[in-house]
Amino acid sequence: MRILVLSDIHGNLDALEASLAAAGPYDVAVNLGDIVGYGASPNEVIERSREVGKYFVRGNHDRASSGLMDLKDFNPIAGLAALWTRDQLTPENLEWLRSLPQGPIQIPELPEIQFVHGSPIDEDEYVVTLHDALAPLSALPVSVTFFGHTHLQGAFSFKVAVGDAFRPPYKTIGQSETMQFALKKDVRYLINPGSVGQPRDGDWRAAFAIFDSDKWIVTFQRVPYNLKSAQDRIFAANLPQRLATRLAAGR
Ligand code: ZN
Repeated sequence: MRILVLSDIHGNLDALEASLAAAGPYDVAVNLGDIVGYGASPNEVIERSREVGKYFVRGNHDRASSGLMDLKDFNPIAGLAALWTRDQLTPENLEWLRSLPQGPIQIPELPEIQFVHGSPIDEDEYVVTLHDALAPLSALPVSVTFFGHTHLQGAFSFKVAVGDAFRPPYKTIGQSETMQFALKKDVRYLINPGSVGQPRDGDWRAAFAIFDSDKWIVTFQRVPYNLKSAQDRIFAANLPQRLATRLAAGR
């Protein structure tokens, strides 16, 4: 089965469309949350995401933008964007966001894999470093966990108390590129597909991953998208300008 794993789209329709066009065929799509927040196309991104697949985990921005979480833990720019998003959402889309499940979730046919937003232990936890990853990795009940939230593409692995970290060593800037990462059967993994709509690893290209559950291979992908269009939508919406400029820096 080819599983398209999308995360942290953040209302960026241009990045989502470019990712879907580059992804090629897939059997099922899983969305790891933060569908909205920051970007200027929340309704369009929700509607497109619902066409793409049926498996979703909620993110903290989905909760904040639909009123399920108060904004005290958000920085002022994120809080402003969440309030703007709440104001834009159609009643149906607001209701749909509120109904999204907390992870971990699973695809019934694939019991060795699970999907979360932050970490398997806490949906709001940021797993940035190998140190952060060790506690969830050592407690994992399944082989492979896909997670998002940090907007950093890559993987952490754990075997007999030894951890390792992997970041795809891309060779190009601004072009479409893929990088395969073959998983071993006796190792546990935490895998982040990266952020479709607001990458933070210094690479502005939209990030996502495809997992082939027969071959046990993750393909990390980066794809350029219409950055100017996404930025112009943010300016036109009168959202904080920093939300547009940061997209170009991939930060
Ligand atoms: Zn996010």
